[in-house]
Amino acid sequence: MQQHTLAAEILQTGVGLHTGVTTHVTIKSAAPGSGRYFVRVDLPESPIIPAQIAAVNQTVLSTQLGKGEIHIRTVEHILAALAAMGVDNARIEIDGPEVPLLDGSASVWVESILQVGLVAQSEPQKETYVILEPIWVRDEDAFVCAMPANETRFTYGIDFDLPAIGNQWYSWTMPAESNSDTSFVTEIAPARTFGLLHQIEYLQSAGLIKGGNLENALVCGPEGWLNPPLRFATEPVRHKILDLVGDLSLLEKFPQAHFLAYKASHNLHIQLAQKILNLGF
Ligand SMILES: [Zn+2]
Repeated sequence: MQQHTLAAEILQTGVGLHTGVTTHVTIKSAAPGSGRYFVRVDLPESPIIPAQIAAVNQTVLSTQLGKGEIHIRTVEHILAALAAMGVDNARIEIDGPEVPLLDGSASVWVESILQVGLVAQSEPQKETYVILEPIWVRDEDAFVCAMPANETRFTYGIDFDLPAIGNQWYSWTMPAESNSDTSFVTEIAPARTFGLLHQIEYLQSAGLIKGGNLENALVCGPEGWLNPPLRFATEPVRHKILDLVGDLSLLEKFPQAHFLAYKASHNLHIQLAQKILNLGF
């Protein structure tokens, strides 16, 4: 299987969920072996931040990459789209500190990738790392584990007191040749960011979710969803799979394993990825 990059550029503009800052993103093709990486084109000398675990410097409510004062927030949805659609190499130019949330899902990125298409490159893909023993991280009753499996699969469970969400599970298998995938496009990418009404005031007072609104995030209260309809009855848990795929894409190539998560967070996703890296991945 050869490496792939984009056949043409993708341009998108929008507001970041946490910073509320509008940024312009241009995703360009990149050389074989260069991987997926961000470029802060608004800063002197256009610093490069690789989309790798080593570059993660914050995981509160979104995954942030950076070094020192230079960072890029909420990278998980754009990276999930690129990785799941089989884009091995991409130069992601951005003129600000946060990736646009767009409609809160990965659909806009995925549609853009489908529109421009991919090109095969001269070098073969890295070999898939196979998980041979169970490996996990946990925090009280929340956990993420990687179980040995003969395919790459993601299963997620969430459990909320709010009856509109409640207890939900979803499972999705990544096709072996991810750039021929359509199930990601239809089953995972459309699932939008969601938030809880009773947390919004607190998050806003903490200087977060400045760019959040009822157009880009589902909001759930005790009486139900404030902005229905949902795209799927299980849209929240599918979004958690989207986040997990985006976070694990920072390993550059998905290991062969069944990833099983329960009530987890970006922080736990990244901790598991770190542990996998430490195995010698
Ligand atoms: Zn998300």
